[in-house]
Amino acid sequence: MFTSAANVEELISNFHLDGATFRYSSFVPRLYNYVKSLGFKPGKMLPSRAFCSDENQGYPIIVITKHFGTFPFNHGRGGAVVATDRHAPYAEHGEGLVIIQASHVGYEPEDNRFGTYSRIRTKDNRHTACCGKLAGVLDWYLEQYRIAQSDVILEDCNGELCLRIDNGLLRGTRKEGLFLRLNRLVRADVEGKYTPVHTHSTSKSFFASEALQRQLADLVPALDEGQRVPIGNHLKPDMFYYRRTLDETVEGRNHQESHLIYPMPWIVTSPSPLLTAAQINTQIEFDRALRTLSHAQCFRDKCVFYISGLNLDISPQPDDPFPTTKFVPWAAFLRDRKGGQRIMEQPELVSVLREQSVENPDQIDLDTAMRGMSEAESVEIVAQAAG
Ligand SMILES: [Zn+2]
Repeated sequence: MFTSAANVEELISNFHLDGATFRYSSFVPRLYNYVKSLGFKPGKMLPSRAFCSDENQGYPIIVITKHFGTFPFNHGRGGAVVATDRHAPYAEHGEGLVIIQASHVGYEPEDNRFGTYSRIRTKDNRHTACCGKLAGVLDWYLEQYRIAQSDVILEDCNGELCLRIDNGLLRGTRKEGLFLRLNRLVRADVEGKYTPVHTHSTSKSFFASEALQRQLADLVPALDEGQRVPIGNHLKPDMFYYRRTLDETVEGRNHQESHLIYPMPWIVTSPSPLLTAAQINTQIEFDRALRTLSHAQCFRDKCVFYISGLNLDISPQPDDPFPTTKFVPWAAFLRDRKGGQRIMEQPELVSVLREQSVENPDQIDLDTAMRGMSEAESVEIVAQAAG
């Protein structure tokens, strides 16, 4: 999916939150009304969800149940990966198929921060990482980045800006770790080699590339006076990449990580790494699952609407029964019964949803439905006699 740095940067900047965020209580009826307008029949639609296993994804599921009048099929693995091997059983269970995939991220309204969420069922309403699955993936990469930020030192060598780089970061034979793109950081000699100006006991110093000298011109006076400064936030995503030994089985143990490793430098340098990771995960899953949907035989003669987006889990107050989760649509795919296919990008999708009514006369009252079930005549279970 990603072929260059420009490609990653464009994809990240194309995912808009401003003006594209819906409360679940407004998103789901709009979605229902939209697919109904496309010819999906009330009572014959079956939603499915590919959400993370986190309990805070339950409120969106309840709202989907209320508006579609049925519990959604479980189409997701932990971390909001679409379980494509469940397409066939899912397709068998309904006529109009509405798949909702969403990665998620916590949001703290008190200080407008992404990435944590108050767990109000813990003794002290602890705030923990959200999505925890993505946080588990990111930890190792963030740590490698922190090490590199302090192990590349800016200094002055004979009146020129130099980088003193720890030997650990220069060892190219490593199987795993953060690898510097020396061509961006260091000036090559006449033979095109990166030859150190000085070799120290555990590090080497190189002349900075001309591009880096221009970028860091403001630091030169301090370095002239003999100061050494860690590169810190000046280590930008186009200056490094990661390598890690991963199980690349599709939908296997390292599925998310093997997709996120290429854009990881942009994730770890983002002001909100868990938000950026969740956005990219959604973009990757939409691109990947769409291909399986458009080719699967099981969806022949079915109407399919597949929508991907981001669940923003607003951290609840201790007395809140549910979080006020919001949805940010990213893209959608429509396949009609005759096989016609169409992709909707975020601007079109948002405006189509905004045009829909939030009134849904087909929604069910969950209390009434529950009461009806408890009061209905009991079905007697008859055990088959052993043959
Ligand atoms: Zn999660």
